[in-house]
Amino acid sequence: MKRLFILLIFFFSFTLAKAQSIDILQYSAKIEPDISNKSVKGKVAVEFKSLTDNLTEISLNAGALEIDKVSEKSFQKKESILIITLAKPAKLNEKRFIEIEYHGVPKYGIRFFPEQNQVYTVFSTSQWMPCADAPSDRAKFRLELILPKDLQVVGNGDLVKQSKLSNNKISSVWEEKNENPTYLFGFAIGNFREVIENYKGVNFRYLAPISYSEAEIKKIFQNSKDMLDFYESKAGVKYAEKTYTQVLPMKSAEQEMASFTVLSENYGKEVLQDEKDIWLGAHEFSHQWWGNSVTNQAWTHFWLNEGVATFMTAAYLEHRFGREEYLRQINGAKANYEKVRDAGKDKPLVFPDWNKPTREDRILVYDKGAYVTHLLREELGEEKFWQALKDYTRKYWGKSVTTKDFQASFEKSSGKDLSEFFKKWIY
Ligand SMILES: [Zn+2]
Repeated sequence: MKRLFILLIFFFSFTLAKAQSIDILQYSAKIEPDISNKSVKGKVAVEFKSLTDNLTEISLNAGALEIDKVSEKSFQKKESILIITLAKPAKLNEKRFIEIEYHGVPKYGIRFFPEQNQVYTVFSTSQWMPCADAPSDRAKFRLELILPKDLQVVGNGDLVKQSKLSNNKISSVWEEKNENPTYLFGFAIGNFREVIENYKGVNFRYLAPISYSEAEIKKIFQNSKDMLDFYESKAGVKYAEKTYTQVLPMKSAEQEMASFTVLSENYGKEVLQDEKDIWLGAHEFSHQWWGNSVTNQAWTHFWLNEGVATFMTAAYLEHRFGREEYLRQINGAKANYEKVRDAGKDKPLVFPDWNKPTREDRILVYDKGAYVTHLLREELGEEKFWQALKDYTRKYWGKSVTTKDFQASFEKSSGKDLSEFFKKWIY
C-alpha cells in the first residue's frame, strides 16, 4: 500500500486483548454486500487449532460489526473485540470450527460507491468480517460473495464456482489456498471493463472503468509482464498465484491483497499521459513477493514490507528506464528521510511504538527503509546483495519475518558481519 492508509493500522493492530492461544487455519465466509445501503451481512466459519490444553474462550477482532449468532456457548463484544466462550473446552492441538453470523455498516476497511455500483475492501479486514488482525497468524480463505448480476468481481485466489441464484443474484466462490495474514484478504466488485492477457501461465486480469477502451487498458498495464519477470528473477521464487488482477476503482485505494491489487481510477489516466508514471503499479506488484508472501511478523517490522517494496520499485524502474531513474528514486527517498532527521524526528527502523505512527514515522518506514536497503546494496556489492535477497526471499517464502531474520539471512548469504550496519541504520 502507499502511505496514505498506514494510519489505519493503529486502529486495530494493538487492540487484540491478549496473545491468542490458537492458530487459525482457515476462514470460510459467505458475504453479501449491500452497495446502496453501504452495509454487509455475512457468516464466517473459523477453523482453528488450540495451542493450549483446556481452551475455554477465543477472541477475534470484529470492528463495529453487530454479531447476530455464534455457534458456541456464549459471546460478548467488548468494543471491537468479540469474545467467544466455547461450548466445550478444547484440548491441545484439537481442531475446531466456530460459526459467526453478523451484519454492519463499516466506517472503513471497505468502501461503497452506489452511483458507480462499486465496492472494494482496503486493509482492515475485521471491519467487514470477524477475524484475527495479528499479521503473524496466516490462514486460508474461502469466500462466497452474493452479488447483483452483471458486475465484475475479484476475490483472493481462484474463482472456483459461479452460479445464478433465484433472486436475480449471482454467487461467486473464491478460494485462496495459500495462507495469508488477514489484512491481505479482500474483494472488489464493480461495473468494470475486463481485459485478460496470459503470460507464462499467469493470467493478468485488468478491471477498469468502462470509459477506458481495451487498447487503453492494455497500454496502462503493458509493463506487468516485464515486472513479473523482473521480480521473479530477483526473488528466485515464482509468483504464487494463477491470476494477478489489477483494478482501477473509484478514489485512491492503493492497496495490495493476495492475488490482486486495487489501484485508483486516476492511475490509469496518469500512465496514459506519461508511460513512465508506473511507480504505483510496480510498487503494488512487488508486494506480491515482499509484504504478501514474505510478511512482517509484527507491525514493528513494517519496514520489511514497505521499505523493501519501495526499494524494489526503484530497482524495477532502474531495470526499465536506467540507472538515472533508480538514483532519482533513491535520492528522493534519501531527501525525504533527511528532512525528518534534520527536524530531530529520526528513529530506528524497528519501531517500538508503532501503535501511533506519525507522518514522519511513515516516511521513515518507506523512505529511510528504501534508502537503507540501497545502502546495504552498496555495502555488499551487486552480486552478494542480490544473492542474499534471493536467499532471504526463498527462505521465508510464505512465512512471517522479523528484522533479526532478515539480518541473519543476509549475513549468512554474504559471509559478512552486518552488526555495525544494522546498529547504525536499523536499530
Ligand atoms: Zn506498499
